[in-house]
Amino acid sequence: MSKLFHIVTYGCQMNVHESEKIAGLLSELGYDSCDDIEKSDIVVFNTCCIRENAENHAYGNIGMLKKLKAANRDMIIAVGGCLTQQMNKAENLHEKFPYVDIIFGTHNLSKLKDYILEKRASKKPIIRIEEKEGEIVEGEKPLRTSYPNAWVNIMYGCNNFCSYCIVPYVRGRERSRRSENIIAEVKSLVAEGYREITLLGQNVNSYGNGTDDITFPELLEKIASIDGKFRIRFMTSHPKDFSEELARVMAGSDKICHCLHLPVQSGSDSILRAMNRRYTSADYLKKVEILKKYIPDCEITTDLIVGFPGETEEDFRATCDLVRKVNFSSAFTFVYSRRDGTKAATMPDQIPEEVSKRRIMELVDLVNAQTREHSARFVGEITEILCEDYDAKRGLYLGRNEYGRMGYFASDTDERGNFVNIKVTQANGVSLYGDKV
Ligand code: SF4
Repeated sequence: MSKLFHIVTYGCQMNVHESEKIAGLLSELGYDSCDDIEKSDIVVFNTCCIRENAENHAYGNIGMLKKLKAANRDMIIAVGGCLTQQMNKAENLHEKFPYVDIIFGTHNLSKLKDYILEKRASKKPIIRIEEKEGEIVEGEKPLRTSYPNAWVNIMYGCNNFCSYCIVPYVRGRERSRRSENIIAEVKSLVAEGYREITLLGQNVNSYGNGTDDITFPELLEKIASIDGKFRIRFMTSHPKDFSEELARVMAGSDKICHCLHLPVQSGSDSILRAMNRRYTSADYLKKVEILKKYIPDCEITTDLIVGFPGETEEDFRATCDLVRKVNFSSAFTFVYSRRDGTKAATMPDQIPEEVSKRRIMELVDLVNAQTREHSARFVGEITEILCEDYDAKRGLYLGRNEYGRMGYFASDTDERGNFVNIKVTQANGVSLYGDKV
């Protein structure tokens, strides 16, 4: 009987793809993926520390494995990702959960295979955190789980040091993959039948900086010239680096989705300054104007933080005003989460929880109203859905249109991986319902 692994993933798409890479490594060792944690021979926690609740969630789940490990001493428990990479966290984790067998960081994920082999030969726990980001590892064979979409890293790390964000401390400085390697990977994914390629990086707009390689718009253009019907998405874009050239390239290709995630975080200039975002609300609105000039139908999504240290009622109003002006297609709204080690953690005027709660509720209402309005524009229209899955409970297929709206429809044939036109009859939140045409 083959050995089994189970991976628990926290956090963003970047981590989802890293879990696919971990799955690839485990499969090279002969393990098969398993949904049942209790039957697994290896359990890997791929953690996130961007927000406090993701960190607490991971601790809770690792704690719950104590009994399982006591009943099955051969089970290997490994914990890696952003959380363990934080200063002193690996040691704390080992003290708190001594039954964890392997603790690794973000910079040595590709060595997990060696650590597992080492662990099999010895009883000693393995704690390996590398301080510095190393060379980019090419030739990884992720076990992809999100067909018809494939995630493709184009760069790693971040140089921006937004004052609230832990990422530069746990993911290291910006490094870009060589464009020829990215293009070769996308070509082979398209040839394998993937219908959507999502390019990943903490700040894709600064792709290639500090190298003799091409820029991000040039990379996009080259990827868009690859033969075949497929969509291209990318995330995340930093507004300060969003260029007119990028808008022009997006407008010039029918493969690049007319949908852009452009995190603004706040509409108040003094808060943006304190966040070290290096743009003003006017700069942001200008970028939106440029984007709309080239792509009038472009849907813009964003991230918003309320309750950043020192945020006054006036600052919060400025955020609501900006949200009204841009009219976002949808937004991820967060209450500021204090992260030790960041500049903002030491700032005075941390905002009381009840104030942040009131602000986030107001903001969520505003954003939800815009989301509904954007979805309503599709009712009566025909929109193309890339079918991702089948929802057995509802008896409906589902997938997204190029604007990121989830579309549901019925069909007699298996539509997964197909582009399907639906006539939208109803909209609900970010979801559209329609009939196949
Ligand atoms: S751009 Fe700012 S928010 Fe984004 S990863 Fe870098 S430091 Fe964090």
